[in-house]
Amino acid sequence: MTPIISMAYLFAAVMFILALSGLSKHETAPRGVIYGMAGMAIAILATIFSPDVTNYLAIAIAMAIGAAIGIPLAKKVEMTEMPQLIALLHSFVGLAAVIIGWNGYLAAENQAYALQASLPGDAIIHNVEIYLGIFIGAVTLTGSLAAYGKLTGKLSSKPLMLPGRHMINLAIIVVSVIMMLFFAATAYSTGNTLMLAIMTILALIIGVHMVVAIGGADMPVVISMLNSYSGWAAAATGFMLGNDLLITVGALVGSSGAILSYIMCRAMNRSFISVILGGFGTDGSSTDEAIEGEISPIETDELASEILESQSLIIVPGFGMAVAHAQQTVCEMTNFLRTRGVEVRFAIHPVAGRLPGHMNVLLAEANVPYDIVEEMDEINDDFPSTDVVMVIGANDIVNPDALEKPDSPIAGMPVLEVWKARTTVVLKRSMATGYSGVENPLFYKDNTRMLFGDAKDSISKLLTALQNQAN
Ligand code: NDP
Repeated sequence: MTPIISMAYLFAAVMFILALSGLSKHETAPRGVIYGMAGMAIAILATIFSPDVTNYLAIAIAMAIGAAIGIPLAKKVEMTEMPQLIALLHSFVGLAAVIIGWNGYLAAENQAYALQASLPGDAIIHNVEIYLGIFIGAVTLTGSLAAYGKLTGKLSSKPLMLPGRHMINLAIIVVSVIMMLFFAATAYSTGNTLMLAIMTILALIIGVHMVVAIGGADMPVVISMLNSYSGWAAAATGFMLGNDLLITVGALVGSSGAILSYIMCRAMNRSFISVILGGFGTDGSSTDEAIEGEISPIETDELASEILESQSLIIVPGFGMAVAHAQQTVCEMTNFLRTRGVEVRFAIHPVAGRLPGHMNVLLAEANVPYDIVEEMDEINDDFPSTDVVMVIGANDIVNPDALEKPDSPIAGMPVLEVWKARTTVVLKRSMATGYSGVENPLFYKDNTRMLFGDAKDSISKLLTALQNQAN
């Protein structure tokens, strides 16, 4: 690698670090995105102009195909479809790691490398890099495709509990580790190719098996975990190719994904190990039994007068607000109520929506002031002293069963305790369940009223009613 290319790689790595640090706050996020784009542009240009690259036509064709697919996809994707797009993109990283690993193994120079390496240690390390790159890549590939299936609803969000599933996973891991020891220690041979092929198939199986065993409500952890795996797959590939930038970027993605997974697990009161082992410790029971009680709908005018008479209002946004694109109208209503002297705040659950930080992004996009947006831990104790809570298109994150029903699939997950307010109004279209597929007794509580309809429609009508009644 020439010094200029090394410098470019170093510069790109610094850009990626600045991008991550920028993305950690709303205010600096746009700058973070620009750093990331600049870093990626430098990395691609430096790679193309490095002396190792000679076949420019192949690269041009690959980039043209990628751009032809990627640009229209990025333009048309809805915010609510981002998680599945991300899952699909992670699967590409996994696929690339598998292909590069196999290519590295089969390439003639590499065979010569393995046979002729002057130091036996070099060949062993190189073989381990190939093996791990393919293993992590294959797990990421099928795991991400399974996550894509679950997020798009093509696969059921309920966990698939095969009998002896932990033994299956354990056996695959043990066999893969034993084969790695043999693979690493022996030079290129037909037996090695067979071992690599068997390991690839086993890793593809374990990837899909681990993700289909995880229930809907635990999917946020799976997404961040696959994000982390894709980083480690890239880092392993970087070691194999001797590419410092790939190692650095892979390690950044891998470790930030692991930290995010840990934060998500803490937010959901889940053990990281249990989730990645496919719901270890859960029996997969579901609570499909009917909930006793009656639902009581509310009319828009009645809700408007109740809100105008109240002093405090907490809005709990959820996935339905994103689906309805209601954030702008919610912001208009918030501004109107604040001018009328109602104290309005937003309560954000860490896994609301379908992406970490999903609700914060939507509210920021609609220009809701940051200082009235509060995290779950900051606001949960304030519900008992709140007059009205409006739950807009949220369901799992306000389900009391998480705290009250030990055999519920979402048991133990901290939730926004909205039922403690004087009146709770839930805006949704029907009695359908949320992402986890679990019924919600909140809708049947005495102090809960339901406002059925599309969230944007309901809020628009509510705003008109508020304005009419206020005049
Ligand atoms: P939920 O998926 O639990 O509930 C959303 C509710 O919105 C549904 O019950 C639906 O009811 C309603 N809804 C849908 N469209 C509309 C509309 N147009 N107008 C009004 N209401 C609508 O969302 P939550 O935000 O409460 O919880 C998030 C869930 O997603 C959790 O289980 C979480 O674990 C999971 N998840 C989160 C991820 C993350 O990173 N944040 C990633 C992956 C999964 P109806 O159809 O009756 O209208």
